[in-house]
Parts: sequence; structure tokens; C-alpha cells
Amino acid sequence: MDNRIKRIVIVGGGTAGWMTAAALGKVLGREYADITLVESDAIGTVGVGEATIPQIGTYNRMLGLDEDEFVRRTKGTFKLGIEFVNWGRLGHRYMHPFGKYGLNMQGLSFHAFWQRMHQLGDPHSLDDYSLNALAAYDNKFMRPIDAGRSPLSEIAYAFHFDAGLYALYLREQAESHGVVRREGRITQVHQDGVSGFVTAVELEDGSEVCGELFIDCSGFRGLLIAQTLGIDFVDWSHWLPCNRAVVAPCESVDAMTPYTRSTAHGAGWQWRIPLQHRIGNGHVYSADHMSEDEATAILLDNLDGEPLSEPRGLRFTTGHRQRYWEKNVVAIGLSSGFMEPLESTSIWMIQTGISRLLSNFPDRSFAAVDRERYNRVLIEETEYIRDFLILHYHATERDDTPFWAYCRNMDIPPRLQEKLDVYNHTGRTFREGEELFNDTSWFAVLTGQCGKPRIYDPVAEMMSVEETRERLRQIRETIRSSADYMPGHRAFIAEHCAA
Ligand SMILES: Cc1cc2nc3c(=O)[nH]c(=O)nc-3n(C[C@H](O)[C@H](O)[C@H](O)COP(=O)(O)OP(=O)(O)OC[C@H]3O[C@@H](n4cnc5c(N)ncnc54)[C@H](O)[C@@H]3O)c2cc1C
Repeated sequence: MDNRIKRIVIVGGGTAGWMTAAALGKVLGREYADITLVESDAIGTVGVGEATIPQIGTYNRMLGLDEDEFVRRTKGTFKLGIEFVNWGRLGHRYMHPFGKYGLNMQGLSFHAFWQRMHQLGDPHSLDDYSLNALAAYDNKFMRPIDAGRSPLSEIAYAFHFDAGLYALYLREQAESHGVVRREGRITQVHQDGVSGFVTAVELEDGSEVCGELFIDCSGFRGLLIAQTLGIDFVDWSHWLPCNRAVVAPCESVDAMTPYTRSTAHGAGWQWRIPLQHRIGNGHVYSADHMSEDEATAILLDNLDGEPLSEPRGLRFTTGHRQRYWEKNVVAIGLSSGFMEPLESTSIWMIQTGISRLLSNFPDRSFAAVDRERYNRVLIEETEYIRDFLILHYHATERDDTPFWAYCRNMDIPPRLQEKLDVYNHTGRTFREGEELFNDTSWFAVLTGQCGKPRIYDPVAEMMSVEETRERLRQIRETIRSSADYMPGHRAFIAEHCAA
């Protein structure tokens, strides 16, 4: 009767491989199954992926990590949101903060009341109603405290960290739960002659690592899911046309900002991720619209400090594998697809891949029903994120370069078109099904890039203008004084988690 999987092989030791190894090791325990991770020092990892979203806190708590230790070990900083510069139009900037705006009133969305007052000429920006936005611009940070109904009780935050140090830290966690690491390049993959299931991977030295469940964390190459099982790639380049990045860390010379900055350029955008020991930078661009030399020159012209290494180029295609789980192989991380790093969603996709694998965990019969559900739900999640990313490119007044003219005029998925139509009419935003980004995130980007809707949500008229004005004033004051109360980001790190 014992049909339990007893040998799990993880192929790849980047962020995806070690996140998976640490989680399976911790949750399943060493008595349940032998877990082996194979990685090749000669091949190395993609070496980027340094900004996260608040959901990573759930992963850390599941592993039982001490957060200060985690930040210290990864030379990390805290992240309250993303600032977008030059997206809606040149010279314009807005914040997509984590957390919420204001306070819902009488069960109705705060957004409706703000929108009404905004249309009536009230000068206060959306940022004035977000603790995260105010704190981010003031370079402040603290973790939430138990302060009753104060906004200080619900500060939402994520992290920036050094990707290499993060993988090393997770490796320690995984090994402490019994995961065994094998170093070596995989040169062959063996399959069962009848079922096509993967049975073993063979290393350069001729040794074999056998298993029943294989997790493909081999990065863009998709060693098992694509090269062995031949699962096709669904290409989204027509919606997300960036397909290259050039990256270069630089010295920190400025305040340690508690947010990521994304600055749009002529054919893509540049990230700025502040860490304790350096700033991570990368220019994501479309090779159909810009040469590598030009992209590199733009990156180097827009660094805060001296570059710390030669610029390095990366290539990718946006999209995903048609199936993430095929036979006894589950693809997690870049092997399963990539949508570009604009909203820091890839590490989240690794996290959701792991948690959904655990909640649909197979036995050796590998029932199709587990696999099909996993594939359906993960693809749905990917598509929701895709729509949110497309919004950033499409909702723009920019047509100053062929790239922006293309993005502005391209056809978009019908579900995104509906969201845009609804917003442009009344300013309403919604979260659908298992969508990652909530109505507040949609509201932040839509108001940041689309401007005013035609009318405001009529339900906002259930409160008089005078009362709405007074309530908004009170909310602003509470949020302002909460931000003033917070310590500086650098001071907080120095006190709790300096590397
Ligand atoms: C430009 C860019 C910016 C990004 N920024 C962000 C971000 O800010 N936030 C975010 O969440 N995500 C970001 N990502 C995504 C993030 O980097 C990845 O999701 C994450 O690093 C996981 O990568 P991975 O582990 O799947 O692949 P990799 O890091 O490529 O690891 C692959 C592993 O497989 C091993 N391997 C491959 N072939 C073999 C073989 N034949 N034999 C043995 N071992 C093998 C390699 O040695 C390596 O250990 C970014 C990605 C890119 C490209």
C-alpha cells in the first residue's frame, strides 16, 4: 500500500532550486523522502532577482527564519513599494506602494471617495493617503507594531536582497533539513522506455541520481521540462516586448531608499534596487528597438555611483511553458517561464509553485487530476500577473519612440481591456479570482498612468462633500503623523539587522 514518493531530485541550485529544497525539506521532513539537489558551479545561476513582494514573509515564516538574521545575511534592505518614473508620460512619477490607501468608509471603497474629491479639484495626491508612500519618500521604515487602529499596525513590506547570498542562506536551511547537495553538470537524462517518466539524471563523472519526482529548477534552459519532455513555450513577446537586460551593480552614494525605482527609457526601463553594500541596477529593453551598446550606455549614464563590475547581458523571452507539470517533472522558477521583473513577481511565482505542489502532492501513481489542477491554477495566476504588467506598458501617453508607440497601440487581452474600460468610466478596480494583485495595486497603477476616469463612482455621493472632505483630512493627518513617528530606514537597519 505504500505508494509514497521516497526520492525527490531537484535540478538546479539558483533561487528556485534552493527555495524549493528548503521548503520541501522543512515541510516533508527527512523521514518522508530523500531530497537531492544537483547544481553545477560551472554553469552558475542567473544571479539576478533581488526585489520581492510582501508575500515572501509567508515563505520566511513557514521556514521559521529569523527576519533580522535573514536581512543581515543577505545584506538586504526593506521595500515599501515601487516608484515608477517616466511611465505614463515623460517627467511624471508615481508610487505603487504596498498596503492600502486611506480607510474604507461605510463599507465602500476609499478609492471612490478620493476619486470624487479629486475630480472636484481637491489637490491632495493619492500618496497622502498611503503610509507606505509617505514613509518611502521620507526614507523611513519600521515593522508594524501593535497600535490598535493606527496605520502603524499594518505596515506592509518586502525585501531587497543579494541573490547569491540568498541562495547560500537557503542552502544552509535546506541542508539543515537533510537535503543533500550534489555538484556536477548533468549531461544525460534517463527516461522510462514505456511511460517517458524521468528516472535519473547522469552527471559528467558518469554517476547517476535516481528519483521518482523531479523538480526542474534549471533556469531558462528547462533541462527536463523542455529539453527532455519537449513542452512548448507560450510566447508573450507581442504583449511584453522586452527580451534583454544588461545589469551592473554600483556603489551606494545616496540615502538607502526603502523602495525599488523603475525608470522608463526609450525602449524599456531600468531598475534600481538599494542593498546594504551596493545598489543593484539593470536595464530591461527590447532588442528589436535598441542595440546592446545603446542599452549599456543608458544604464551606465544612470547609475548613482561608480559601477562595481563590467555590465553583463541577459537574454529572455517573456511567456511560459504550456504545462508546468508533465509526467513526473514539475518546473519551478525560470524553467517554467518568465514575465520580466517589472513588479518583482518571479520569486513569488516560485513560492506559489512550491505551495501548490505541496497542496497537490502526488504519490507514485502521479494521478492526472493533481497535475491538471496544478497546471490550470498556475497558468491562471501567470495570466493575471501578465495582464497587470501589460497595463504598465500600454497605459501611457508616450509615443516619443517606436517602442512606446507600439506599446500604446498594441492589442491587449480582453480581460485587461475590460479592467481599463471599467476604470476609465468610474475609477472602479477589482481583484479577480486567485489574482495576485488586489484592487489597490490596480488603482495605484491606473491612477498613476491613466489619469482621471470619465465620472467618479456614484456611490461616493452617499456622503456629503463637506463630510468627505473632513474625513479625508483626518485620514491624511493620521497617516502623516504615523510616517513622522517612523525611524529612518538606515537607522532601523543599523539597530536590527546591519550586515
Ligand atoms: C533581468 C532579470 C531580473 C530579475 N529580477 C527579479 C526581481 O527583481 N524579483 C524577482 O522576483 N525575480 C526577478 N527575476 C527572476 C529571478 O532572477 C529568478 O526567478 C530566480 O533567480 C530563479 O532563477 P532559477 O533558480 O529558476 O534559475 P537560475 O538562477 O538560472 O538557476 C539554474 C540552476 O540550474 C543549474 N543547472 C542548469 N543546467 C544544469 C546542468 N546541465 N547540470 C547541473 N545543473 C544545471 C545551474 O547551475 C543553476 O544552479 C529576474 C530575472 C531576470 C532575468
